[in-house]
Amino acid sequence: MHIRDRNLIPVWEKIQRGERLTLDDGLRAYTSGDLIGLGAMAGAVQKDKSGDAVYFVLNQKIEPTNVCVLSCKFCDFAVRKGDPRAYEMSVEEILGKLSPEIREVHITGGMPPDWPWDRYLEILKAVHDRLPEADIKAFTAVEIDFFHKKFRMPVAEVLRQLQSVGLRTMPGGGAEVFSERVRRLLFHQKIGAKAWLDIHRTAHRLGIPTNSTLLYGHIETLEERLTHMIRLRELQDETGGFLTFIPLAFQPGETGIKPANRFTSAADDLRTIALSRLMLDNIPHIKAYWVMLTGEVASVALNFGADDMDGTVGGEKIAHDAGALSPMTMAKETIIRLIRDAGKIPVERDAYYNPLHVYHDRVVGKIPYLNSVPFYARLERRGFRILPVVPRRMGILSALGEIDAGLFSLMDYLRQENDMELMGWCIATRDQVKSVMLFSKGGWRELDGSRIGITDDTATSVQLLNVLLEKKYGVHARFERLHQGVNAYDGLGAVLLIGDEALRRNKHGLKGFDLVYDLAREWYEWQKLPFVFAVWAVRRSVPPAVKEELSGLLKQSLESAGGDFVPLAGTHGRRIGLTDAETQEYLSGFNYSLGEREREAIAVFRRLLPAVASGALASSRDMEAR
Ligand code: SF4
Repeated sequence: MHIRDRNLIPVWEKIQRGERLTLDDGLRAYTSGDLIGLGAMAGAVQKDKSGDAVYFVLNQKIEPTNVCVLSCKFCDFAVRKGDPRAYEMSVEEILGKLSPEIREVHITGGMPPDWPWDRYLEILKAVHDRLPEADIKAFTAVEIDFFHKKFRMPVAEVLRQLQSVGLRTMPGGGAEVFSERVRRLLFHQKIGAKAWLDIHRTAHRLGIPTNSTLLYGHIETLEERLTHMIRLRELQDETGGFLTFIPLAFQPGETGIKPANRFTSAADDLRTIALSRLMLDNIPHIKAYWVMLTGEVASVALNFGADDMDGTVGGEKIAHDAGALSPMTMAKETIIRLIRDAGKIPVERDAYYNPLHVYHDRVVGKIPYLNSVPFYARLERRGFRILPVVPRRMGILSALGEIDAGLFSLMDYLRQENDMELMGWCIATRDQVKSVMLFSKGGWRELDGSRIGITDDTATSVQLLNVLLEKKYGVHARFERLHQGVNAYDGLGAVLLIGDEALRRNKHGLKGFDLVYDLAREWYEWQKLPFVFAVWAVRRSVPPAVKEELSGLLKQSLESAGGDFVPLAGTHGRRIGLTDAETQEYLSGFNYSLGEREREAIAVFRRLLPAVASGALASSRDMEAR
């Protein structure tokens, strides 16, 4: 990596050591003249998290009204009731904007003085009934606070009622910048940082993931931008409920805060995207919101740390009333072109960032956990495009023919073995795994009849747990899929976690769940066999020469490690809080080659599956229907 500014080097070294950036680090990076070096750093962090993927969604923005009881100084959208520019959409008008391909409906707008509570519920219910497959992302924390005060309901009750009629996620608007100084000057009637963060905390606890934003480019300072990011990072540490961070470039409009033509510069936009990626190490995605940035700057931002382009939007008023230069909507084909122009793979997603379609060939799936890292060292340099995707979702994508090869969860391979060929590599344990863990309040037999929370990512571990419960211990429990990215464990008897999250919790514990079971050890003590969690497989339709090349590169990747995994995986390990010694010990505990004992273990597991098939597989299907 070419970093020209020597001041950036200590920042980059810190990132590689897995250390968090402080406010001072952020300032040093923000004020560096080496924009390209900064972009390279953020791009490398992004690649580590998202591979070559850039996400977008087929979405529809709905702003039901521009009538608002508040009058924020920077707002060109809102008007008072009775103003000739005021509009209020009927439910029919809202439904008229929805087309069948939409996967996310994004609803925000003004806060009129006279709408009854039932009108909001009616809107969400009507949208949900019209498009049950689409996720509804609705109402900023400012609107939720307005409902809480106007309708005299606790915030949690407001959210629960909205959830009951279809709310799935919340947008991140209304945060502006967490600075009392700026709030007093520009939006003193609006909620401050504490209330905004409290509302998002409540949403996360209720299983509603949310987005987060920063409005920059008005009167805020760089310190205020960075402090804002740090406060979001702290809440994310606590709840894990933020899906993405969206730096929103201020559109000057007619507010008088800045001259009408004084937009943020492209350099400031790119620096802010890069700083967001570097500072917010625990928020999975950074969005280049083309509505504010323009499509061209957003496309460049995909090499400065952003991995999401938002979506088709289908008509937006708030930013455009403030003079946004971008079009009102963007065709799917244009988004795909902008992503490809940036050298990335366009991946259509839902509101939870589950990939739905991949618009590229030669795509190899990558389970985004530490134990898969040793396989990818060579692939990434030889033209294969890498899509990180959690095990269960990789199986779904593969069934749709969207990826050519990958490290598949064993269950997904077994379900698709007619279309897939094994490649001779796997992730198998010797006796323990350390990253497929059941955190429990009681012993195995005490779990009879209890509810067990299951991480949303798992395809095989959930089946292994079911086999252990039913066949080894004679226990019947009820599985509940946990909300993605949200740590809501209330009322559960146990929680199954896998991958990096399980490793982290194994090291630090999970509050309230004192007994910790390693499922591979449980299996080994019972069957005296390793357990095969994942296997490398390739679609039978892939040309033989490509299969051969892929196989050779996997072999080279493993051989290049030579048993010393720290050079390959140390950065990943440090990022999730492991020392280099812990990373080495963890990765040395696997067999990566699919040998006789591993094949025998698969056969035994497969024989046990039908005995519990009706319960286990049915519950798996239920869980797939979110
Ligand atoms: S920014 Fe939102 S809350 Fe403030 S005046 Fe505009 S619509 Fe109302």
